[in-house]
Amino acid sequence: MTDQLANDQLTQWDHDHFFHPSTHLGQFARREMGNRIIQSAKGVHITDREGRRSLDAFAGLYCVNIGYGHPEIAEAIAKQAHELAYYHAYVGHGTEASITLSRMIAERAPEGMNHVYYGLSGSDANETNVKLVWYYNNVLGRPEKKKIISRWRGYHGSGLVTGSLTGLELFHKKFDLPLAQVLHTEAPYFYRRADRDMDEAAFTAHCAAKLEELILREGPDTIAAFIGEPMLGTGGIVPPPAGYWEAIQTVLRKYDILLIADEVVTGFGRLGTMMGSDHYGLKPDLITIAKGLTSAYAPLSGSIVSDRMWDVLEKGTDEFGPFGHGWTYSAHPICAAAGVANLKLLDDQNLVANAGSVGAYLNETMAAAMGGHAHVGDVRGQGMWCAVELVKDRDDRVFFDPADKVAPRVVAAMLDRGVIARAMPQGDIIGFAPPFPLTRAQADEIVTVTKDAVAQVLG
Ligand code: PLP
Repeated sequence: MTDQLANDQLTQWDHDHFFHPSTHLGQFARREMGNRIIQSAKGVHITDREGRRSLDAFAGLYCVNIGYGHPEIAEAIAKQAHELAYYHAYVGHGTEASITLSRMIAERAPEGMNHVYYGLSGSDANETNVKLVWYYNNVLGRPEKKKIISRWRGYHGSGLVTGSLTGLELFHKKFDLPLAQVLHTEAPYFYRRADRDMDEAAFTAHCAAKLEELILREGPDTIAAFIGEPMLGTGGIVPPPAGYWEAIQTVLRKYDILLIADEVVTGFGRLGTMMGSDHYGLKPDLITIAKGLTSAYAPLSGSIVSDRMWDVLEKGTDEFGPFGHGWTYSAHPICAAAGVANLKLLDDQNLVANAGSVGAYLNETMAAAMGGHAHVGDVRGQGMWCAVELVKDRDDRVFFDPADKVAPRVVAAMLDRGVIARAMPQGDIIGFAPPFPLTRAQADEIVTVTKDAVAQVLG
C-alpha cells in the first residue's frame, strides 16, 4: 500500500514537472500516455516500481552493452568517488583512470589513431568533431573548406550542429535545422532504394555517384568532412550495401575530404568486432565513441583523433596558443573509472565474441521466424543488432501510413509479453539491440514474442 501511494505521488510529480526527452509533451501532460518508473535491473532484465520485469532487447538506448547490475563497475565507481570524485582535465591535469582509459581506447582503435578528447554524450562528441574539422582546415589555411556532408537517416545527436547532421525530419522540424554548413546525401538503405531494379552493387555505385555529384555541385574546396555511422542505426538499423564504404572512401580521398566515423553505437563490440570501422574497412580521421565506452554506467563520450589530424592540431596551438575547447566534466574521473572497468569486463567475459555469435543466432532465428510473414518486408542486421521492417504490401513494397502507428502498436504488444523492443522513429521498423551477454534461450524468447505481437497486430 505504501509503495502504491509512493508510486502515485511519483507519477503525479512526473507528469507535473519532468520534461522528458523525445516524448509527446501534450499527451504526457494530459496523461493520454503513461509513465514507467524503473527501479532496478540485472543482466538483460529491468524491473519497474510496479514489479513488472522486462527483457530489455534494446539495452536501454543501445548502450548497456555489458548488461545491467555488474558489481565490478559499481565498485570501480564507488572507489573513484571516495578517492577523488572530481578534478578537471584542463592544462595537463589527469587521473590514473583518465590516462589509463586513453591508453585502452588507443589500443582498441584502428591503427594510427592515438589521442582521445572526452565529452559526456555522443552529441557533444560530434560537436567537438565538427570544431576539430573546422580548426584543422583553418590551421591549414583553407578557411572556405567547412561544409560537412551527412546522410539522410544518419543519426549524430540532437544539438545544433549535431541535430543538423542527423538526417531525420523529426529532429529538424520546427527547430530551424539543419544549419547551412550541413548537407545530406543518399542513405545507404538498399531495401528502400528508389529504383528497385538496382542490385546491391549498382546501388552502392549510385550512392557514391550521388555523393560525388553533391561535392561537385557545392565545390570540393568547400567540403571539409563526411560523417557516417559504419552501419545506420536510429535511421533504421541498416547494414550498408556491399562495397559501400570502399566506394565512399574513394570519393572522399579524391577530394581531400575527412571521414568521421560515428561509432557511438558500433564502438566496443555491437557488430561482433571491437570497432565498426574494422568491420567495414573504414579508415577514419575521427571516431565518435560514447554509449559502449562505459556501457552507460556513467555518461562519457570521446573523439578519437588520427595522427594525421593530431599533427595539424599541435601545429595550430604552436601558432595560435592553447586549444580553446573544453568542458568542465571532460574526462570526469568517475566516468573514466567506469570506462576502464567496463572495457576490462568486456575482455574478461569475452563479450564481443558473444555479441557476434549470439547476435548471428538472433538474426538467423528472427529471419527464419519473420521473413515469410505477409507484412514483413525486410529482416536485417549484423552482430547483436537486428531489425524487422513491416510493410502494408510486401510484393509492391507499400509502406503503412505513419498515422496507423503499426510499429508502436507491435512494440506495445511485445511489452505486454515482457520484451522491450524499439519502434524506430522513421518507418515501421522494430529494432533490437540486446545487451551482449544475451543467451540463445533469451534470443528465442525475443523472436517468439516478436512473432506473437506481429500476429496480434497484423494477423
Ligand atoms: N551518434 C549516434 C550514432 C547515436 O546513435 C547517438 C545516440 O543514439 C548519438 C550520436 C548521440 O548520442 P547522445 O544521445 O549521447 O548525445
